Amino acid sequence: MTHAGAGAVEPDLASLEAGPKGTRSLRARGAPLASTAAQLRLLDALRLPGGDFEGALGACGWAELRPAPLEIFQINVGRLCNMTCRHCHVDAGPDRVSENMDRETIDLCLAALDRTGAHTVDITGGAPELNPHFRYLVEQSVARGKHVMDRCNLTVLLLPRCADLPEWLGAREVEIVCSLPHYRRLNTDAQRGDGTFDRSIEALRRLNAAGYGQGHPRRRLTLVSNPAGAFLPGSQASLEREWKSGLARQHGVTFDRLFTLANMPISRFLDWLVERGLVQEYMERLVATFNPATVSGLMCRNTISVAWDGTLHDCDFNQMLDLPVEAPPGRRAHVRDLDRAWLEARRIRTARHCFGCTAGAGSSCGGATT
Ligand code: SF4
Ligand code: SF4
Repeated sequence: MTHAGAGAVEPDLASLEAGPKGTRSLRARGAPLASTAAQLRLLDALRLPGGDFEGALGACGWAELRPAPLEIFQINVGRLCNMTCRHCHVDAGPDRVSENMDRETIDLCLAALDRTGAHTVDITGGAPELNPHFRYLVEQSVARGKHVMDRCNLTVLLLPRCADLPEWLGAREVEIVCSLPHYRRLNTDAQRGDGTFDRSIEALRRLNAAGYGQGHPRRRLTLVSNPAGAFLPGSQASLEREWKSGLARQHGVTFDRLFTLANMPISRFLDWLVERGLVQEYMERLVATFNPATVSGLMCRNTISVAWDGTLHDCDFNQMLDLPVEAPPGRRAHVRDLDRAWLEARRIRTARHCFGCTAGAGSSCGGATT
């Protein structure tokens, strides 16, 4: 399979590269936790009373985690990103050039999408806008009558090649889901790098100017926040009120809704926890706050997640841990082989990182789940 992203990085990418000082991808640093097997081993080795996720599910009546009807077809088009955030669960960055979905795999995704009943195409990355086939994927998904979501890091919109994207996406009624850790400069820059907050506000202004974030259901602007440390997010509803008034008052920008996400104990956030000696404490907190009411709304139940190389996963987190879906005998866990019947009959793969989705009010690509 060819890597369409190879050679696709233009000089403007380097000019926007940001990251907290000294932060590079685990891969670029050659860090031990660049290995997904090492991440899983580290979590499994913790002495964690109540830390058996399947046991916790069983105790609240879920003998097995099985899917609900598929609603969201999530496509991770690659790990290339103009930023290198400290908490990134993808280990994305400007160095992840070769892991970028090619046109052939995008066409396989579209063909597979036609074999499902999914109503939403959720496009993520890295920075998905940097994939050379991003606009093709959006147009083809829109042409199929799907609701399309672009998971955008905001700063990418300042790249010259993306300058027209707010209008372009608006004309196609694409929902833009933007990550912004906090509405205060200090918290955002600590996680994403100096200057990120100011660039994010400029991008939000451009989105507002294109009609996003004004309450128009066809130009919906969603912000996604995650805690700046080893704690769980606060109430999504009250944070949304606080963010709306803070951003409007201090910066004159508006948005439609806020998703709050817990930091998953994998990849660069796991590395950050290790560095600070906080892994045990954070995992204990996730286990202690396991909330049975979150299970029915787990995103792995209504979503399938396709990796840049076409491999199928129960969710983006399993994807980042190299845990592909369980395929029936004779079938591969690949988008080429995707079949609605076996997809809906599969057993979802879980491990200790799953406590990140069931803690407190729950956490998913759609925010809190309760
Ligand atoms: S968190 Fe998002 S913006 Fe930051 S490095 Fe990862 S993919 Fe890029
Ligand atoms: S990480 Fe979350 S979404 Fe993924 S399989 Fe585990 S519980 Fe489900």
